[in-house]
Amino acid sequence: MGLKSLRGNEELKRRLTAALASGKTAQSYLLVGPEGSGRRTLATLLAAALECTADGDKPCLACRQCKKVLAGTHPDVVWLGKRDKKRISVDEARWVKNDLYVRPNEGKKKIYVFPPTHLLGREAQNALLKVIEEPPEYGVFLMLTAQAEQLLPTIRSRSSELTLLPVPEAEAMDWLRQNAKGADDAMLSGAYARAGGYLGAAAQLLHGETDENARVLAAAYADRDRYALTERLFRMEKLKREQLIATLDALRKMLADGLAAKYGRRAVASGEKLSETRTAAELLSACRIVEQALAAADANVGVGHICGWLATQMR
Ligand SMILES: [Zn+2]
Repeated sequence: MGLKSLRGNEELKRRLTAALASGKTAQSYLLVGPEGSGRRTLATLLAAALECTADGDKPCLACRQCKKVLAGTHPDVVWLGKRDKKRISVDEARWVKNDLYVRPNEGKKKIYVFPPTHLLGREAQNALLKVIEEPPEYGVFLMLTAQAEQLLPTIRSRSSELTLLPVPEAEAMDWLRQNAKGADDAMLSGAYARAGGYLGAAAQLLHGETDENARVLAAAYADRDRYALTERLFRMEKLKREQLIATLDALRKMLADGLAAKYGRRAVASGEKLSETRTAAELLSACRIVEQALAAADANVGVGHICGWLATQMR
């Protein structure tokens, strides 16, 4: 692991190593790349490098500080809004403002990692502006973003931008072969193309292919087999909410994949089949239906209700 794991990002590694070696690190970084491009990995490595106590190359990934950062248990590395995809509220932004003035517990720096900027609204950014402009010397902000333009110009101008680049195909194929077992090369290269060369995104697409329920639903929808669709949805009524969300998310990606294939993009296996038998309008409408179901699942509507509703809508 280490900076080595940022595959294909030679330029990025070079810039990071140079910044760390010169001791001139920024206090605010923008980690720029789409979902699945490795922003969280980069944030973790950068945080480890900033806290690392080794003498040589940082992060050493072996010292106590590095290990805690990697394990997600370092008290001075704070991940905001992690995973639950909630918008950062103005209150949380104010909390950061206050918390920042409490000195680091054991680390050299106090590091705040912000979720992708679409979850960081204007008001929250405004609330943070002052501290980002004049943080205490130990304060560091890492902001994940797909589009740096989503940030206030004042924040952007004070941040150092690190852009994650797509990985070359040959290198990506090696990694995918090891990390997505059971998929053949055609599937891997389809996923690579669909993911725009970003490994995490490609792995996610392939993972969707291994969700048995999603695969059966996609195949039944492609075959216009309403009986098979209804039967599978009926069985899914026993799923836990998180399982249903994972399945619907995988199904939505497959449908979107099929839609993209309509416009000449290379697709993963199930997407290919969908694009052969369904029109673009049908795929678009199915995507919207699944999105509605996902929103309902997020809003705590019962799993049985959602499956029943889907059975009446997916035609
Ligand atoms: Zn270390």
